[in-house]
Amino acid sequence: MRILVTGGAGFLGSHLCDRLLKDGHEVVCIDNLFTGRKQNIAHLLPNPNFEFVRHDIIDPFKFEVDQIYNLACPASPVHYQYNPIKTIKTSVIGSINCLGLAKRVKARVFQASTSEIYGDPLVHPQPESYWGNVNTIGKRSCYDEGKRAAETLFFDYHREHKVDIRVARIFNTYGPRMDENDGRVVSNFIVQALRGQSLSIYGDGTQTRSFCYVDDLIEGIVRFMAQEKTVGPMNLGNPGEFTMNELAKLTQKLVGGKSKLFHKPLPDDDPKQRRPDIALAKKVLKWQPKVRLEDGLERTIAYFKGRV
Ligand code: NAD
Ligand code: UDP
Repeated sequence: MRILVTGGAGFLGSHLCDRLLKDGHEVVCIDNLFTGRKQNIAHLLPNPNFEFVRHDIIDPFKFEVDQIYNLACPASPVHYQYNPIKTIKTSVIGSINCLGLAKRVKARVFQASTSEIYGDPLVHPQPESYWGNVNTIGKRSCYDEGKRAAETLFFDYHREHKVDIRVARIFNTYGPRMDENDGRVVSNFIVQALRGQSLSIYGDGTQTRSFCYVDDLIEGIVRFMAQEKTVGPMNLGNPGEFTMNELAKLTQKLVGGKSKLFHKPLPDDDPKQRRPDIALAKKVLKWQPKVRLEDGLERTIAYFKGRV
């Protein structure tokens, strides 16, 4: 197939391009390089089946493709809050552009939705049937509400125009190729520990997240796109749940050295807990994450060792 990946020069997008090329497809990657880097795809540029186009998905685009994966959107709170109006435009106008193209060329289209759909969840763990607890006017809202509106658009195009959609709600995913300045917790802790700096815990560190290693997530995404049974929304993530204090201590242990911990104020609307209910993915995709946090962190630390 010919497959379009938006946000293909980013962390998840570049791993997805690798996987699709390995599976024998042709890949067109479009990215405005806001948080993505050419370096993430440099190894793919000589491949005749790979094409990179620097483009912003807010502006319309046309490609004759069989599938579209829409991953373009900054994912780290630091970056999506840098230009919040742009962030929501990327989710809303970018989704409309992807869906319009999918409708025209009859392509199956994937949306990288997020656990942020659930906001600061009052139901734990979160099943897909939970509607969430989201602030509409806070600093995270540009991302959360943008992604919620994108889900609405995907389902309206599906109902109105029979567009063949797949919507996955991705939970915190980490691994090699995260940017050292990305600002998300796993890369922050690893980079700080490797530099011998103190690890920055926001708040009291009792808030939880569930961390999925990138290879597991990409496998889930590809299986989801390959099946015919469900359009989603489908949670994809690792149900192992850790406090940020636990993550910091584990990172310290794995990196070694003498880095300490320090606390910074908790950002506004930071969700207190998050863990995916992945019963649907297990049933439909016969999928569940295989990589334990400790092993995934080891691989990620090995990647950053050469860089910081
Ligand atoms: P990332 O920031 O590394 O990648 C996003 C990519 O999109 C970057 O390459 C960036 O340059 C590109 N981009 C941003 N705005 C664009 C625009 N307007 N036009 C074209 N390209 C644009 O983040 P990531 O972790 O790889 O996330 C990829 C997708 O997965 C995002 O949509 C994100 O919301 C979603 N997601 C990720 C996670 C996670 O934990 N990694 C969790 C939930 C959802
Ligand atoms: N966090 C932290 N230290 C950091 C970066 C983040 O303690 O250096 C916390 C953050 O407050 C949140 C959790 O780690 O509770 C996950 O943050 P991240 O930005 O990685 O993702 P998200 O909040 O979007 O899940």
